[in-house]
Amino acid sequence: MEEQIRQAAEWIRQSKHVTVFTGAGISVESGIPPFRGTDGLWSRYDPNCLDIGYFKSHPLKAWEVIKEIFYDFFGKAVPNDAHKQVAELEKMGYVKAVITQNIDSLHQEAGSTNVYEFHGTSRTLSCTGCKKLYPARKIPMESLPPRCPACSGVLKPDFVFFGEAIPQQVNFMSFYEAQVADLFLVIGTTGEVMPACMVPVHAKENGAKIIEINTELSSFTNSITDIFLQGKASEMMNRLLFHVKASDKADK
Ligand code: NAD
Ligand code: ZN
Repeated sequence: MEEQIRQAAEWIRQSKHVTVFTGAGISVESGIPPFRGTDGLWSRYDPNCLDIGYFKSHPLKAWEVIKEIFYDFFGKAVPNDAHKQVAELEKMGYVKAVITQNIDSLHQEAGSTNVYEFHGTSRTLSCTGCKKLYPARKIPMESLPPRCPACSGVLKPDFVFFGEAIPQQVNFMSFYEAQVADLFLVIGTTGEVMPACMVPVHAKENGAKIIEINTELSSFTNSITDIFLQGKASEMMNRLLFHVKASDKADK
């Protein structure tokens, strides 16, 4: 394993444009469970609540679940070492962009500045009536569904619900950042969510080397991954950064 980490660190140092692609796995150590798997959110909640048709017809029922998962719960999470090391790699000049499927804003909180939120964000809410946008923390949620202070329309979180399209600009920029990357770092994603799972494939098809970090094999591991670092995101990122920094120092 140490040799693989050392090799991955060398690849990072030799690359001109590292793009990072993350999924729910990077936030597990911040206390946010993933959707899938035995301890996943779907073992406790009905995924239907995040379907746009259901949300429109049953805003109260959908909001009861949405509030519990995304606002009571996510609100307390803070970035872990994996988010911090991704931000550190940007400061060092290696990472140029982060594409995340997560909606928890933890990359930005850790200091990453060029983040594409493929599935939107839970940080803001938009009015389904007048389309006005509000920071979620400014909207009281004692009485559900939360309503627009301007027109009383039902507010909807700005993340992508099942049945909704990926925001056009973010979709375009994500595939662009995959295309121009010479190194693509995939962290904590099953690779089962369409069309997000096509982004790493696009990077590979355009010549990027793929480094993957995950506790389990994903659908990328035996198809496009060049170096698979099996383990927890924070531990693997700490070890990776240790080698990048040690070699940078040795070269000076
Ligand atoms: P997923 O739930 O399908 O898979 C999570 C992946 O993370 C798995 O491959 C698992 O093996 C891996 N993993 C678990 N713990 C890990 C750790 N400590 N270190 C490294 N890897 C670890 O997640 P997904 O593929 O990202 O897709 C699910 C969708 O659900 C995404 O669209 C995402 O937006 C959404 N989601 C977001 C959050 C969040 O914002 N934090 C949380 C849950 C789900
Ligand atoms: Zn409104």
